[in-house]
Amino acid sequence: MIDAHTHCFPPEISDNAVQWANTYNEPHWLSLVDPKDKQSLQGWATKEAMIQTMDSAHVSQSIQLGWYWEHKATCLKQNELMKEWMDFAPMRYLAFASIYPNEDPIHQLDLARSMGFKGVGELHPTIQNYEENKTHWFAMAEWCEANKWPINFHVSEGLNVKYPNFTPTPFDIYLDITKAFPNLKIILSHWGGGIPFFELNPRLKPLLKNVYYDTAASPLLYDITVFRNVINLVGSEKIIFGSDYPLRVYPKKQTTPDMQTFIDDIQSNAGLSKKESDQIFKQNIENLLNL
Ligand SMILES: [Zn+2]
Repeated sequence: MIDAHTHCFPPEISDNAVQWANTYNEPHWLSLVDPKDKQSLQGWATKEAMIQTMDSAHVSQSIQLGWYWEHKATCLKQNELMKEWMDFAPMRYLAFASIYPNEDPIHQLDLARSMGFKGVGELHPTIQNYEENKTHWFAMAEWCEANKWPINFHVSEGLNVKYPNFTPTPFDIYLDITKAFPNLKIILSHWGGGIPFFELNPRLKPLLKNVYYDTAASPLLYDITVFRNVINLVGSEKIIFGSDYPLRVYPKKQTTPDMQTFIDDIQSNAGLSKKESDQIFKQNIENLLNL
C-alpha cells in the first residue's frame, strides 16, 4: 500500500514549533499545530517512528507532502529537511515539494526536481494568495503540466461549521486551473471538499477529467460511507488513499498517530471490492507518478 498524503515535520520543526513559526513568520501554521493547545490534533513523528508505523500497517511507501507556508524561505528550508528523510529511506519515502508559487516558482521547481521530489503540494490557494498572484501560479501549473508533476491542493469543505482558523478555498479557483491546464494532474485533498458531487454536471465533468481526490483526514470529516458515495460519483479510479499522518484522525482512539486505525476502518467498513481497494491503496497513485 501507498499512503499518498502524509506530512513531514522533522525534529528541527516539530521540537521547536513556536520557534520555527516565529523565525519564519508562519502564524497560520502555528495556529493549527500549536503544541501548547491541548485540542490540537497534530501529532508528530520522527523518520524512524514513521517507518515503524508504516511497517505495522503494511504501507510500503509514503508520500511526504510539504506544507502551504506563507513564505518562500520556509518552503526552501522544509524541502532541505524533507530531502534528508528521502535520503534516509529512499525506498520508503517519496516527497512532494513545498512551493511558494508567488515568487520565482520555476526556480523553486527546478531545484525541487534536482533534489528528487516528485510533485508539488500540499498548496493552499487562499493562505498562499492565489488571487493576487495568478500569473505566478499559472507559471507553476504550466511547468507541472509539461513535466508531468501532479499538484496536491488542500480543499476546505464548501459547507462547514467553521472550526478555529477555518480558511475557505473557493471551488472556482480549481476550475480556473483545470480550464487553463487540461492535462495537468491535480489531487484535491480531503475528498475535494465536496467537489466530486459536481462531476455529475455534464458541463463540469470534462473539466475535472484529470482531477483526483485523496482521503486525507477523512475520519475527522465524513463517515465511512463517503468511500462508496464518492466511488458512485467519480469512480474508484479517481480516488487515492492518504491518511494525513501524523495528524490524529481518530482523536478518541489514538494517543499517538498511526495509519493502521484508518486502514482497518476502510478495510472493515467501506465495503470496497478487491479491485477498488487495489486502485485506491496503490494503483491510482502509481499510475499518476509512473512508479
Ligand atoms: Zn489539507
